[in-house]
Amino acid sequence: GLSVFGTLKHGKTDAASLEPAAKHKPIAYPRPDGVLTFDRLSSVFLSNTNHEEDQPVHLKVKDMQLQKRSEHDIYAGPSTRYCPAGVYEWVEKDGEDVFVINAQNCVHCKTCDIKDSNQNITWVPPQGGEGPVYQNM
Ligand code: SF4
Repeated sequence: GLSVFGTLKHGKTDAASLEPAAKHKPIAYPRPDGVLTFDRLSSVFLSNTNHEEDQPVHLKVKDMQLQKRSEHDIYAGPSTRYCPAGVYEWVEKDGEDVFVINAQNCVHCKTCDIKDSNQNITWVPPQGGEGPVYQNM
């Protein structure tokens, strides 16, 4: 019969069957090479785009009424979810839902430009046009 505390199938006690770790080669996982693989710390969230405080707004919403009527009222604000940097927020202000754009957080992934249900958001390359700058790699 099988007993939790009894001998194992191979007939040795647990302790006797334990082998020194040195006999086993550790599995070497390749380190992220920063080209095809990235560790979490250097992912899109920390892509370290430099922001000048006086940078012109590079995220343009063509029609704010449409944004409210459709993006908010019909689609329930997908921009607040698809943007990896939390740039877009719907904030209630004096009983009105206001679309807030925290443009300084943008990591220039261009998702909003592609994903907005109404094609109402346009992403413009930021000043300098260099896009994400991956440092320390
Ligand atoms: S480009 Fe758009 S989706 Fe991407 S981080 Fe900037 S605001 Fe968010």
